[in-house]
Amino acid sequence: MNRLEGRTAIVTGAASGIGLSTARRLASEGAAVACLDLSAEGAEKAASEISSAGHKATAIACDVSDPTSVRRAVEDAAGQVGEPDILCNIAGIGRFYNTHELKPEEWNRIIAVNLTGTFLVSQAVLPYVLDRGGVIVNTASTSGLVAQPWQAAYCASKGGVIMFTKALALEYWDRKLRVNAICPGGVETPMVTEFSELPPGAEFKRITRYISPLGFCSPDEIAALFAYVASDEARYMTGSIISLDGGITL
Ligand code: NAD
Repeated sequence: MNRLEGRTAIVTGAASGIGLSTARRLASEGAAVACLDLSAEGAEKAASEISSAGHKATAIACDVSDPTSVRRAVEDAAGQVGEPDILCNIAGIGRFYNTHELKPEEWNRIIAVNLTGTFLVSQAVLPYVLDRGGVIVNTASTSGLVAQPWQAAYCASKGGVIMFTKALALEYWDRKLRVNAICPGGVETPMVTEFSELPPGAEFKRITRYISPLGFCSPDEIAALFAYVASDEARYMTGSIISLDGGITL
């Protein structure tokens, strides 16, 4: 499929997991891809793998929680692979905490990366897409739809991403900009390791309802949804919050 031929995409969190799979998938469908990540080395590895497969890609180190870093990264992306038509906000962090022990700086970091980062990169991309049109695909989570224990900061950040997505979609409804969010369930990525360590006193049985009998999915399965939402096949989709979670939010 060449649904994204001639398009340019920015993918954050492109060094690992869902972001890496999405960068590969968008490139394989014809998009030129700017791979942004906090890990310069990881972004470099992703972009050189995609380039070696014959596609156009560039690596840009970026901390999505830092406005200066984001502005520079989006300008560099536009200069190196072209003005963006597609933004996939995928960078994210999280782990379990007892809320009574969660330090304000840990809360702030999770909100800064997952929520403020999504805002900052979207804001930096808006001037490129408001007149020519474009697509923003954000990453929320099942944790933005249903409460999960020991994830107050993560749930709050992802719930915020959901309402940010809807507000942006509505605000720019008539500007040819579509904005949607994907809510993955359990995906086999390095982040799952972060979420495997329970805080003191927590019981594993309280999180089993968040594990689907279908097991975890692969990041490639989530990437396929990103590619669809980014493509013109999803022309009529805006403000949508799309779950891909093995049924755990039923
Ligand atoms: P991952 O840890 O494999 O990848 C996250 C990437 O984000 C890493 O490459 C990391 O370096 C990058 N990153 C972290 N902080 C950053 C920052 N400040 N600036 C730029 N890049 C930064 O995780 P993943 O599982 O692929 O998660 C991707 C997204 O999917 C996250 O938003 C996560 O919350 C969401 N998600 C994951 C799951 C899951 O089960 N894995 C479920 C629901 C939602």
